[in-house]
Amino acid sequence: MTGPQQQHMATPPGRGIFDPALLDRCISCGFCLPACPTYAVSKNEASSPRGRITLMRALETGRLDEDDPRLREESSFCLGCRACEPVCPAGVQYGDLLEEWRDHQWRGRRRPPPAQALMMIAERTALLRMMGLVRRHARTAAPAQTSLMLGCFERGLFPGVSRAVRTLLPDIAVPPHQGCCGALHAHNGESEKGRELARTLGETLPGTIVTTAGGCAAHLAGVLGRDRVQELSEHLAKTGATPVGEVKIEGRRARVAIQDSCHLRNGLRVFAEPRALISAVADFVPVQGDDSCCGSAGTYSLLRPRDSKRILAPKLDAYEAAGVDYVVTVNPGCQRQLHGNLRRRGSAVHAVHLADLLAAAAGGRPLPRGRRWRVPQVRVNLRRRLRRRGASGGTAGWSA
Ligand code: SF4
Ligand code: SF4
Repeated sequence: MTGPQQQHMATPPGRGIFDPALLDRCISCGFCLPACPTYAVSKNEASSPRGRITLMRALETGRLDEDDPRLREESSFCLGCRACEPVCPAGVQYGDLLEEWRDHQWRGRRRPPPAQALMMIAERTALLRMMGLVRRHARTAAPAQTSLMLGCFERGLFPGVSRAVRTLLPDIAVPPHQGCCGALHAHNGESEKGRELARTLGETLPGTIVTTAGGCAAHLAGVLGRDRVQELSEHLAKTGATPVGEVKIEGRRARVAIQDSCHLRNGLRVFAEPRALISAVADFVPVQGDDSCCGSAGTYSLLRPRDSKRILAPKLDAYEAAGVDYVVTVNPGCQRQLHGNLRRRGSAVHAVHLADLLAAAAGGRPLPRGRRWRVPQVRVNLRRRLRRRGASGGTAGWSA
């Protein structure tokens, strides 16, 4: 080996929590620190990728007790955005390390209850189907060589996205009897269950699987293979599909920014494709920070709402300052995060999925527009109330 890989120090044999080949790769150079959103807001070395890998090594070798509060805090404060991976000269696969860490740290009763509840729902395919029936997502009876993955929560939260995909790709199959891809499990301390769900989905949807969720795309590709899975923008680029029409507002082309999906960008390195598609139907506006995490990060916005908002706020300011009409998302978690928080601000900027933008350009369902009423925020500080009643302490390590 040449270069930085030569300098690394092997971790002494330990508890067997981490794959030593993954853990030993870090050379502690610190190149990843400027890319890390939690380091940016905290300026604390322990809340950086290098600091967290140091904690993982201390856990592995037994220098830190398993119940050390720093381990609980940092395994939860990390967004899992993998922005530290593309900038790492040693090729550290931080996302895999984090999965191994949470498999250990969040096992059994240590798992945050909201994450446990969501995983239980996602595992029940019959429940997901029922949710889809009520919300009327796209569905087809006949199978085909290319299928659309509906996602466990996207089909309920944003059923219009699958309908928009059918507008763009009329021949794509959308079997309704499909379950969760397991990304939720893999990111919340149940990685083996996550792989099992991905394999089951791979059997349910033969051939190429197209997904409108960047996080699911990265997880599925990791289990089923890169050739089986394509995120929507990637699929449209690979098949040479040319977007039709334009999105216009009062006679001018709409100004449209993007919010990258972390796992799509940092895991699968897909970011040029959605930008090219936006540019084909509207005026694409690059906005500083459009490539960094929006604070949704799977279950993060539920587990650590205050940190999630701290990471999101400057991004919303930047989108508004850029004067864009829309910010495009390529992942339902980001869509939920941006849509809800822009609405609460009464912002004139609307969050729309890429499929919705392209379908609207082609004459499909029109996009929302204009300033909305500001939604008054009712803050209920449950933690403070519980503390007043002397019942606090059950959430340390995962709740902000
Ligand atoms: S994770 Fe990579 S970039 Fe960060 S300190 Fe380790 S080797 Fe350097
Ligand atoms: S995954 Fe994201 S938040 Fe976590 S250490 Fe890497 S860059 Fe920082």
